[in-house]
Amino acid sequence: SHGRVFNFSAGPACLPAAVLEQAQADLLNWQGSGMSVMEMSHRGKEFIAITDKAEADLRSLLSIPDNYKVLFLQGGASTQFAAIPLNLAEEGDKADYVVTGAWSKKAIGEGKRFLLANAAATGDNKSIPDPSTWNLTEGAKYVHYCANETIGGVEFKAPPSVGDAPLVVDMSSNFCARPVDVSKYGVIYAGAQKNIGPAGVTIVIVREDLLGRARASTPAMLDWSVAAKDGSMYNTPPCWSIYMCGLVFAHVLANGGLEAVEANNEKKAKLVYDAVEASNGFYASPVAREARSLTNVPFTIPSSPDLEKAFIAEAAQAGMVQLKGHRSVGGMRASIYNFMPLEGVQTLADFMREFAARHA
Ligand code: PMP
Repeated sequence: SHGRVFNFSAGPACLPAAVLEQAQADLLNWQGSGMSVMEMSHRGKEFIAITDKAEADLRSLLSIPDNYKVLFLQGGASTQFAAIPLNLAEEGDKADYVVTGAWSKKAIGEGKRFLLANAAATGDNKSIPDPSTWNLTEGAKYVHYCANETIGGVEFKAPPSVGDAPLVVDMSSNFCARPVDVSKYGVIYAGAQKNIGPAGVTIVIVREDLLGRARASTPAMLDWSVAAKDGSMYNTPPCWSIYMCGLVFAHVLANGGLEAVEANNEKKAKLVYDAVEASNGFYASPVAREARSLTNVPFTIPSSPDLEKAFIAEAAQAGMVQLKGHRSVGGMRASIYNFMPLEGVQTLADFMREFAARHA
């Protein structure tokens, strides 16, 4: 196993060993091209073939309808927080944001720099506010929400119904973690570094009728229609990251697609939540049951912050790393994205039981 640990990092996160090995095999000479993917012209036929295949495989994984463009961009999901208002609305227009945690809070904060961003609902970081209480704005240019709050571990189980305004979703931490109905959305965006590849590339899936609305001042690098027109090659794209995502997409397709990913993710999440529930209160989950994330599982040891420290240190000794909760929340957080193996989560659940038995 090359001394590899079980890495519960919130991102960048673990990738399939088979994909890393493929990248290693291709490293010095990609398919007889005589060079590494890192050394290729992004406009050469080899790299165009790599991008086209990555896009085609992602389209089949998510069954992306033909009237959606797939963009491979840079700047992380954080850049899209600004690109969204710049592409979809003029200054002075209104947009609604559902705030369910730290990331949607960042999104609305950036949105406010560019338009009238209304907090249609504000959650308690533990649950999703009941949609019947949302204060949606007449004439909003879009409704933005975060499908999975990476820090709080709060996840929407289905896209909310918001009427006619296009639904814009940050799927950074649950992208490709299960099948989704793309046609429900105007825009889906996600950084790659949790569920589908390394950092450096951000996926934007945008319905074609939403292109061409960018305000005149939008920088070309943030304008989705520029990227769509140039096949994400307006400038030099993040070639290596796109290539790595392509390997991941092919790997997932060859292993049962997103249905298989979802089944595995559900099994993994159940193992951790069950270990919390079966601990007689030794561990606690801060999140309401129906909003518990499949991919980011925060948990605490309510009786003692010192025991939490010991838990994290002992887990690391046992080869389970990056279990410390986000600094704003404390406790522990197990990020169990697509490529955390079931065995890793089983090992964690066993350790949780054993640790509780020793300290209860
Ligand atoms: N949204 C969510 C839900 C995230 O988890 C993150 C990163 N942790 C971001 C946005 C920001 O992504 P990036 O670092 O790619 O800008």
